[in-house]
Order: sequence, then C-alpha cells, then structure tokens
Amino acid sequence: MLKKLLKLLLLLLLLLLSIVLFNTFTYKSKQLDVQLLPEEAVSDEAVQHLSEAVQIKTVSYDDASRFDSASFTKFLSYLSETYPLCDSLLEKTLVNGFSLLYKWTGSDPSLSPVILLGHMDVVPAGDDPNEKWTHPPFSGKIENGFVWGRGSLDDKVNVIGILETAEQFLKEGKKPKRTVYFAFGHDEEIGGRAGAVKIAELLESQKVKAEFLLDEGLLITRGIVPGIQRPVALIGITEKGYLSLELSIEMEGGHSSMPPKETPVGILSAAVSKLEKDPFNPRISAPVQEFLAHVGPEMPFFSKMAFANQWLFSGVIIGKYQKTEAGSAIVQTTTAPTIFKSGVKDNVLPMRASAVVNFRILPGESISSVTEHVKKAIGDERVKISVYGHSNEPSPVSDVNSPGFIAIRKSVGEVFDSTITAPSLVVGATDARHYTKVTSNAFRFVPVIALPEDLKRLHGTNERISIENFKDCIRFYRRLLINCGEK
Ligand SMILES: [Zn+2]
Repeated sequence: MLKKLLKLLLLLLLLLLSIVLFNTFTYKSKQLDVQLLPEEAVSDEAVQHLSEAVQIKTVSYDDASRFDSASFTKFLSYLSETYPLCDSLLEKTLVNGFSLLYKWTGSDPSLSPVILLGHMDVVPAGDDPNEKWTHPPFSGKIENGFVWGRGSLDDKVNVIGILETAEQFLKEGKKPKRTVYFAFGHDEEIGGRAGAVKIAELLESQKVKAEFLLDEGLLITRGIVPGIQRPVALIGITEKGYLSLELSIEMEGGHSSMPPKETPVGILSAAVSKLEKDPFNPRISAPVQEFLAHVGPEMPFFSKMAFANQWLFSGVIIGKYQKTEAGSAIVQTTTAPTIFKSGVKDNVLPMRASAVVNFRILPGESISSVTEHVKKAIGDERVKISVYGHSNEPSPVSDVNSPGFIAIRKSVGEVFDSTITAPSLVVGATDARHYTKVTSNAFRFVPVIALPEDLKRLHGTNERISIENFKDCIRFYRRLLINCGEK
C-alpha cells in the first residue's frame, strides 16, 4: 500500500516537473525584432537650448500665492524665439494663460492623431540650505558631459526634446503622417488641474480621439530589474489611483486633570494603527502580469521558470516584491498616514482629532472598494471618514498590441542598443491620467537611461542628464514621429 502511494506521489511529482519545464521551455520572448539604426547627428545647439530652458525658474509651489507668472511668461517667450518654425507653422493655442497646445496637421487625415505630452514646471530646488548641489540648481551648467539642474530630467528634457525634433523636421520640410499634438502643461507637479486638465477639456470639446499619447512616467533602467543585465525600457501602461481619506472624531472636551476613559486622540490613534495592521491584499495586477510576460523570457533559468509558472510560483514572486517598499507599491494598494492633527494646549483635552491617510490604488480596485476596506478595518462608527482633496481612480490599462505601443517599442529598439522593452505600472501620478476621455491608449515613458543612483536625483539634488542621453531622446522622438504613422 505504502509503496503504491509512494509510486503515485513520484508520478505526480514527475508530472508537475514536466509541466513546469514545458512551460519554461515554451516561454517565448515577446521582444520585437528591431534593427539598431546608425546614430543620427544631433547639434550641440540643442544641448545649449536645454541648458537655457533649465535656467528659467518655472517652479510650481503648493502655496499658489508663490506662483511666479513672469517666469512662466519668460519660458513661453523663450520657446517662441527658439523654435520659430514650430511657432509659425504649427497651430499654437495658449491654454489657461500658461499651458501650450500645438497641432501639427499630418499628411494622412484618415489616421487618428497622436499626443506628445510634457510639462514646463519643475519642483522647487535650493530653498533648503541642506540641499547640496554640485552646481546651482538653476544654472543649467554644462560640464563633464552633463546638463545639470532642476528640470533637466523632469521634464524639460521632453518639452525641449520634442520641440527640437519638430523644428528640425520643419526645417527639412518633413511632416508626420498622423496629426501630432504637443501638450505642455504648466502645473503637473501640483496636480495638473490648471494645465493638463484644461488642455484635455479643450481637446474633448474639439472631439479629438487620439490613437495614443505619450507622457513621462517610467525610464530605461539599468541594474534595476533583477536578473537582467541589459537595459530595460519600462513603458507605463497605466498608473495607480489616488485617494486621501480624512479620519476625524469629535467628542466633548474637558480638563486634562479629569480625563474620560477614551479620548479623540486615543480613538484616532487606534484607528490609524488598525489600518496599518490591515494592509490591502497583495496581488499581481494586469499591468504587472504584462511586465512579467515581457521580462520573464529574458531572465536567467530559475527566474524564468518562476515567471513561466505563475500558477505555482505567484506567492514567491509577490513575496519577492514585498521585500522592499518600492516593490510593495507594485503589488498592492498602499496605505500612508500623512497628516495627524489634534490639541493646542498641554492641559486641555482636545474636542477634535483628525488624520489624513493617502492611498495609491492598484488597478482592479477603486475609490469605493478602498473606502469600504478602511471602514471595515477601523470598525468604529465614531470615526468619520471623508474624502480629502482630489482623488482619481486607477487609469485604464492601455493595449500592448496597439500601434502606439508598437511604435514606441520600435523607436526604442532603433535608438538604444540591445534594450529590452516591457510594459509596466506607474506608481506615481502623471498628467496622462487627465486624458482618459481623449484616448484609451496612454503610455508613460521617457527615453532616459537611469541607474539606481539616478532615481534619487528626480525631485532631489543634483538632477542632471547626460548630453549623449539627451541627444538619444531627440533621436527617439525623430523615429517615433516616423514610426507612429504606421497603421
Ligand atoms: Zn514630471
């Protein structure tokens, strides 16, 4: 009997092993077969333009009273003077005073248009004396093969890169097949409500339905995807939703010498603690599934085996993601208590306590499902829950078989040597989320190469871009203007 059982077990194991191996060996690469093109010349003038653009302090502050309209006006004039052909030959609209929309009519009116996004504003820099910049943040210094300064990567590289490309095309008398819009917002860093939202509304009112749009988001990474030595161009196909909830409680006040058993501070603290102890379920969402399907076949054997057999190894994969905060953000809706307020005097019991918790919602979940989870986790009717500030649902997931996605991948392959391309999930927020009514295919990718240490420079100190990389961005946009015309 025991022998029979052992035999059966062995047979089952063999069957399991053959399924695992079969799936691994038939796990086919999804990479496109693209020929690297000879490097096109890009003038050093373009680099000079990026440096000059960085020198104009188009800073977005949370405090709206600090908005410096003169700097933004100066930036707009700078673009007009530097790109005279774009200024005169394309249809240009100033949106809500400071945002820009260009329309470049294509040669084939039967094709739906494309929108290239960028933002002209930057986050503050140099306000904090602890920030130690090698070169002043708005110097635009060109040194040792880099352009230094706030905005060089985020996101003036795109605005300048796109306009350089278009100006050159116009000089050469070329035009794209598809109509191409350039949409440059002026307040992306504080939510995009005065810029991107208004541009998107204008396009909607004109009944524009774009084939796809390309905005910032992810980059070409090196040494960031474990097990892969080659550069990986990550193209965001969706972004997480955004929700902040205010938890508040009101009770009778009193003197701290005769406190009641429960106080607003105590009840609220317990509520926040319960939330932290009851995290959202980790799982592999649709965009992450796509990511795994694109990088998996390029991985060393054992990782490849795990990715090819997610029915068996999904727990292991999720566990790996959960080892870091950055990884956890990819596999679950995150919970981050950000504001906690109560009390004014040490001997007075406060009547009110409030806290704000920020959630970044994984595709497949929603504002209402997150709110439900929060209510259940806290389980205390005394704690009032309300939406705080602006919120948005996770963005729709864009189609990885659409012409736009293929054009982006092809352009990457033609410019960047032996680079893998893969769709992925953006955990932050971009202007692209405001365009869901204008296109169902929004992609989020900047053709910039980032090493792990470079990621700290975004919104941090010593932001910079290498001259070669900036020139490659322009080469990428040139190819994209051509490749996006293919049906
Ligand atoms: Zn940005």
